[in-house]
Amino acid sequence: MSLIQHIIDGQLTKGQSTETTPVFDPAAGEQTNEVLVGTPADIDAAVESAKRAFQQWSKTPPTKRAAVMFRMRDILDRRRDEVATTISREHGKTHDDALGEVTRALDVIEYACGIAENLKGDFSRDAATGIDVCGERQAIGVVAGITPFNFPAMVPLWMIPMAIACGNCFVLKPSERDPSSANLIHALYEEAGLPPGVLNVVHGGKVAVDSLLDHKDVQAISFVGSTPIAEYIYTRGCASGKRVQALGGAKNHMVIMPDADLDQAADALMGAGFGSAGERCMAISVAVPIGEETADKLVEKLTPRVEALKIGPYHQQGAEMGPVISRDAQTRIKGLIDQGEAEGAQVVVDGRDLKMPGYESGFWVGGTLLDHVTEKMSVYKQEIFGPVLSVLRADSYQQATDLINAHEYGNGTAIFTRDGDAARDFAANIQVGMVGVNVPIPVPVAYHSFGGWKRSIFGAHGIYGPEAIHFYTKLKTVTTRWPTGIRSGAEFTFPSMK
Ligand code: NAD
Repeated sequence: MSLIQHIIDGQLTKGQSTETTPVFDPAAGEQTNEVLVGTPADIDAAVESAKRAFQQWSKTPPTKRAAVMFRMRDILDRRRDEVATTISREHGKTHDDALGEVTRALDVIEYACGIAENLKGDFSRDAATGIDVCGERQAIGVVAGITPFNFPAMVPLWMIPMAIACGNCFVLKPSERDPSSANLIHALYEEAGLPPGVLNVVHGGKVAVDSLLDHKDVQAISFVGSTPIAEYIYTRGCASGKRVQALGGAKNHMVIMPDADLDQAADALMGAGFGSAGERCMAISVAVPIGEETADKLVEKLTPRVEALKIGPYHQQGAEMGPVISRDAQTRIKGLIDQGEAEGAQVVVDGRDLKMPGYESGFWVGGTLLDHVTEKMSVYKQEIFGPVLSVLRADSYQQATDLINAHEYGNGTAIFTRDGDAARDFAANIQVGMVGVNVPIPVPVAYHSFGGWKRSIFGAHGIYGPEAIHFYTKLKTVTTRWPTGIRSGAEFTFPSMK
């Protein structure tokens, strides 16, 4: 068992921390490591280091900052297996799934490689006679990231490359449940030539987070996690004068129109509902077939597929899904299935009693299919964040979209259809931030930006892509006139560009 330490100013350190929390292998249900619980003094030290590093780093030419990103891209690509294994050991997701996470992280780093182009700014000559105007975006200083357990490498790498490519310095507070990936990311950046202090990692929980939220030298907070915490982070961070982007939870619906290819839709639901054991903010957790006939056929196609799910530890060849993150999560998910059943849902495939030979103490929940779910049931209202797919039968397209629009979350959604009118209407009018047309998990590519609507996000900016450049920089506009010998005397009216 090893102790996972903070990394402050380029050094592994225990800082002032005296407490630890256990880290588990979810497949075995056994503790493998322990991680430090950061204190306010550790946050102070990390912020101080980042503040010092900012003096040089913010003045480093963008092409040189991009050079670090290019090297990081190559190193991460070369060491992707090692990163994927680090993710899976603590998270439990399959190796292939973890490799997919690394690929998405690589995409963001690639986008950050083009930072010089993206920070070029604008210039208007002769905005008025002899007056030129230049708009530029400058780094904001020390920024912090607080990240969830479900993508321990990708979500930190949604934030770090964009923030530091823009010239900021970063303090990361990763999830305490799978903290090793954060330290490995730091090691890879160090190998890529990132100066000490530009990226710091402080482990821990609420105490460390609150210190970041209140710290006078932290200019911005990026948060990804559950909605109650996202709302808290947004409120407290804004109250202390920071810019905050806080991405929260989700309940993602997939509408299946009667004209859809139902085999394609059923396959898509399997990957989107059960991949990563449903622990994705873009997982589809509600299938909404239109009409009883579509619903009956869909459930008929889904049932054998869910029963045949290959479940196993991350290193098992052919495993499609692993365990859930913790004993608490396992208990909560099974409890929600119980509640759904009690409220009248039909449990078509029941994953509550799954036993994994050789891993009897692991945090397993089998793939579960619930039919005849209604919008009044807790299993529908709450984010389950587990391998549970609910089927909510709708009579019409209108009923389906009303349902989605009424839900408190608005992260992702999809429609499966061959009908162009329905698809176009859905894309234009649905009250959700990320929409797929025959695409079940519409996570935007790295040169677009990621973000939901409604209570799936707090703050004006999405994460990564062009939105990140706005979030991590502040606009400065310089208006210039050089002495040309033209003298107009003192002017007391408001200046206008006539
Ligand atoms: P979580 O909210 O429990 O934790 C997220 C982070 O907040 C962790 O670093 C944790 O240490 C910290 N934290 C937890 N409780 C806190 C408190 N009381 N005060 C201050 N900080 C606190 O989320 P999780 O369980 O790690 O991740 C799963 C959640 O994240 C799901 O709801 C999922 O939908 C969401 N998520 C959203 C997105 C998105 O892009 N919208 C992406 C991934 C995950």
